Amino acid sequence: MLQVDSLVRELEARFDDVALDHVRAWKGAAPGRLAVGCMPVFAPREVLWAAGALPVFVRGAGDRIETIRGDAYYQSYICHLPRSTLELGLLGHLDVLDGMVFPNTCDVIRNLSGVWHATFPQHLVRFIDPPQTAEPASAAAYLRHELSALFRDLCARSGVEPSAARLRAAIADLAQAHAAARELAIARRAEPWNLPIDEVYLLRRAADSMPPPAWAELARDYVALALARGRRPEDRIRVCLVGAFCEQPPRALLRAVERAGCYVVDDDLLVGLEPDGGEPDVTGDDDPMTAIVLGWLRASRPSAVRYDRDAQAGRALVARVRTAAADGVLFAAPSFCDPALLDQPRLTRVLEQHAVPYTAFKYAENTGQFQSIREQAGTFADSVKLWGSA
Ligand code: SF4
Repeated sequence: MLQVDSLVRELEARFDDVALDHVRAWKGAAPGRLAVGCMPVFAPREVLWAAGALPVFVRGAGDRIETIRGDAYYQSYICHLPRSTLELGLLGHLDVLDGMVFPNTCDVIRNLSGVWHATFPQHLVRFIDPPQTAEPASAAAYLRHELSALFRDLCARSGVEPSAARLRAAIADLAQAHAAARELAIARRAEPWNLPIDEVYLLRRAADSMPPPAWAELARDYVALALARGRRPEDRIRVCLVGAFCEQPPRALLRAVERAGCYVVDDDLLVGLEPDGGEPDVTGDDDPMTAIVLGWLRASRPSAVRYDRDAQAGRALVARVRTAAADGVLFAAPSFCDPALLDQPRLTRVLEQHAVPYTAFKYAENTGQFQSIREQAGTFADSVKLWGSA
């Protein structure tokens, strides 16, 4: 399949473009265009896109650059993501961005927002503390106020009129991307042997910094080409890979998991981009900004950084396992990530209640050795095949 190979090569080139030259090219193609960085996991993409700004998820640098100066800012017992993100900034790779949005995901990202403000005064830096529930109503009113201020400030920079019509158009554009992402997820669950994790991951990472309608087209092209490969399934188990959602594992780790005898049929690597991450439901004359706010407060998937009053997260994970017809769960959490590692025990408790096998390992974005993880995933796969449990 020459075509799918060349499409994947393009995705690889985009992934390796840590200096964001492709974002620079997009901005330069029309006057007034902005680009705004978003840290995991809450990104008001509709608001940014409506203001004429390309939302650009910043998820650290992985193993693509050497982190030297970024290390000087953080203690050794902090995850790796803020170090490589700072390194990208200090190298000038994020100069193309006009601003950075920091959500209140954890202490580390909260701290990084302050460091960024002091280090890169040319950026519009916005710290957003999304309320955890829609009750009381003042929570929604507060978030609406914050996002409206961001919208106005960005529109003042881009020269765009801050209107409800712009917000509605942006919601419609993002809905195209969400629909394509759902189709991609369905195709992967149906034929993971034709849609390997490494390629699906590259494609979804492309959505980090592409105009949403263009990404939707790209995703549909990839699905059609990948399904046309007609590969035959191998004797592997089906797994959900969960627990990352912020600092990203190296691509080689994803490949190692599949080569160890697994098909990854679902994952939560890219929270914030997922189709069930809180899509605004706007109809008729609804106020689009309120729809965006309620989408996040009421519809987004429970995760380690969302207050989970009714303990939905465990049940939601079991439901994902069932939907994906998965044989088990691999927990892959970033080292020193408090949200991920504190979340694991309550999730594994629910998996045990439902007799879902699981295993867990940790990684850093610049991990270079995968042999032990490969052995662990391989042993897990063999155990599930032999006995139906790990
Ligand atoms: S990896 Fe975990 S601790 Fe580090 S920035 Fe992300 S959520 Fe915070």
